[in-house]
Amino acid sequence: MRLWRSLWAGQSRDIAIDLGTANTLVHVRGRGVVLREPSVVAVDRSTNTVLAVGTEAKRMLGRTPPNITAVRPLKDGVIADFDVAEVMLKHFVHRVHRHRTFLHPTVVIGIPSGVTEVERRAVRDATVRAGARQVLLIEEPMAAAIGAGLPISEPSGCMVVDIGGGTSEVAVIALNGVVSGRSIRVAGDELDDAIIAFMYHEHNLAVGPATAEAMKLEIGSAVSLNGEDRQVSLARGRDLLTGLPKAVEVSAAQVREAIVAPLAGIVEAIRATLEETPPEISGDVMQQGIVLTGGGALLRGIDRYIAQETQMLVRMAEDPLTCVVMGAGRALEESEQFADAFVKPDGKA
Ligand code: ADP
Ligand code: MG
Repeated sequence: MRLWRSLWAGQSRDIAIDLGTANTLVHVRGRGVVLREPSVVAVDRSTNTVLAVGTEAKRMLGRTPPNITAVRPLKDGVIADFDVAEVMLKHFVHRVHRHRTFLHPTVVIGIPSGVTEVERRAVRDATVRAGARQVLLIEEPMAAAIGAGLPISEPSGCMVVDIGGGTSEVAVIALNGVVSGRSIRVAGDELDDAIIAFMYHEHNLAVGPATAEAMKLEIGSAVSLNGEDRQVSLARGRDLLTGLPKAVEVSAAQVREAIVAPLAGIVEAIRATLEETPPEISGDVMQQGIVLTGGGALLRGIDRYIAQETQMLVRMAEDPLTCVVMGAGRALEESEQFADAFVKPDGKA
């Protein structure tokens, strides 16, 4: 009996999943982050078969022939395409399984804070079908805060802003609960869209989302940085006037001009959240400052921009892209301390 139980414990390694709009990460207890792939699935619509998942599928985004579509099943934060999301989740879980036997692990999975009961159930069911024995849900800002090392169990409040691909989550957390917060559909993708619109209107150039994102990563910034304004990036696309391929040089200052509107949207969500926060806790947040997580936190100068606009202290988490999955993993490992941090089951789960 004892032997059986220890075998069981060894094989049912618990896993944590960050099912993000842009990237999915999987953390296995004792092994760390074992998978990190774009949340993209390429589907052949004529035969309804899945052609590729993750990195390989992302390469196809925007360049597929008509019968193939590269789908981002979570695009706006919630599950936009449920069937495809389930296929993706299964694929990733099985890929992690392959390397070691898992006997129906406990899975903790991060969900955006604004999702409905129906959407929560959908994520839970998909995770069970992917092989989980027990599914725990944790709100992404909560997981992000734990992963960033914030003292979420203390009575004094702290603020985390997680800027992902499809959504930005703003939350003030105290005593293992979200005191106030917002989930808005303005994040990395919106910055890319703003660059696409800018190229269209200012340069008569149609560029795809991958090009826009590459420009953002290469020269994008939220504030003017020493000597970097004149850096340029070569944007390739289709000339709207001639219909022919064309390349245009764009400066860092121009890219900043293009993305300022969505950045202001994120600041607005921070302001609105602070306005709703009880005064005592606002005082704590003012002292502790705001911590940024998510890939969007890597935009150059975004910490300075938010500090300027809110007059608060702002700092970036150490490894912003892994905060949610690390926090979810840690909540599972220390589930006694973090019991209250999980989303309460709806009774029937
Ligand atoms: P999600 O949690 O929604 O999957 P992530 O936290 O993985 O999102 O962040 C993905 C977003 O971060 C994308 O929009 C991506 O363009 C953006 N991003 C990643 N690295 C950088 C960077 N160095 N500068 C600006 N944006 C970045
Ligand atoms: Mg995320």
